Amino acid sequence: MSLKPIADIGEFGLIEKIAAICAPTIKPASGVVEGIGDDCAVYEHSPSSVQVATTDILAEHQHFDLLTTPPHHLGSKAISVNVSDICAMNALPRYALISIAMPQNTPVEMVESLYNGMAHAAKLYGTALVGGDTSSSAAGIVISVTLIGETSKENLALRSGASPGDLICVTGALGGAAAGLKVLLREKRIMMDHVQNGEPYNRDIMNNLEEYTEAIQHQLLPSARVDIIEFFHKHQIVPTSMIDISDGLSSDLRHICQQSMVGARIEEGRIPILSQARHIADEFQEDALDYALGGGEDYQLLFTLKPDNFQAIVEHRDITVIGKITPKEEGMTLNDIYGMQIDMKEIRGFDHFT
Ligand SMILES: [Mg+2]
Repeated sequence: MSLKPIADIGEFGLIEKIAAICAPTIKPASGVVEGIGDDCAVYEHSPSSVQVATTDILAEHQHFDLLTTPPHHLGSKAISVNVSDICAMNALPRYALISIAMPQNTPVEMVESLYNGMAHAAKLYGTALVGGDTSSSAAGIVISVTLIGETSKENLALRSGASPGDLICVTGALGGAAAGLKVLLREKRIMMDHVQNGEPYNRDIMNNLEEYTEAIQHQLLPSARVDIIEFFHKHQIVPTSMIDISDGLSSDLRHICQQSMVGARIEEGRIPILSQARHIADEFQEDALDYALGGGEDYQLLFTLKPDNFQAIVEHRDITVIGKITPKEEGMTLNDIYGMQIDMKEIRGFDHFT
């Protein structure tokens, strides 16, 4: 029998197979509310509350590059991206477990810096780092973060609750992380050329990145929107569905549409785009809209709301209504700034980073 490489079925094909093997372990009485398929797994915690759990792996060369990422930032980001998934359930983060595998020659100072970054972020989010594991690795550093959060049953927001007429909202400004990555990759190339020419490695040869600080910060140090969840809880706002923007507005909106069995119409002119992302896109002769729709890693929240919640969010300067949920048959469309209605399937995928 010839064995099939994972590459043949892709990440989603693999997850499907794994989910099929795992599903029979979830018995009706086990208290599981949601298994594989949302930002977090959800299970009953008390008669009125649930816990939500998520885990993420960061592999060197695959997800991060120590040439462009200071370890302190990497640690902070590892916590933030997991907390962001907790937020996507309308829950607050509580406990984290960190596991790390690293080569024997990894400098102790680097590992300390990494954990200091994690501890710094954890404090900001009110999360306790309570344990984990360490191991050696034959090739590169691998970090795994598991985060546990809590919310009441009434507050829980899944991806599957959106219905036609709901408002589609997004927090913050998009495109910054993708634009920042563009700049960092360009700088890395300059540095690699320099090293290949036989000149010594030297961080100083990087261009002055000051004018890109905000975008680079969005890429290296994203923050999870715990503040938005606190705002929701304080004002008793429960989104009908929610996801965090890790892959880009269009694919994350597609997840909501597929799991809620609805369509969506968004207005290009209303999508909040970081102004520095626009400048960087101009410099690269690209469109900042592509960064927002497909760039990902912004870790803002995308959610839907019943229209009668509009008054409760309209004053919030960091929440923007970008469109409306429609019946499934209408598909996913984008009204561009010229008034043309574009099928989102036809929008060119964002492939600058693959
Ligand atoms: Mg997510």
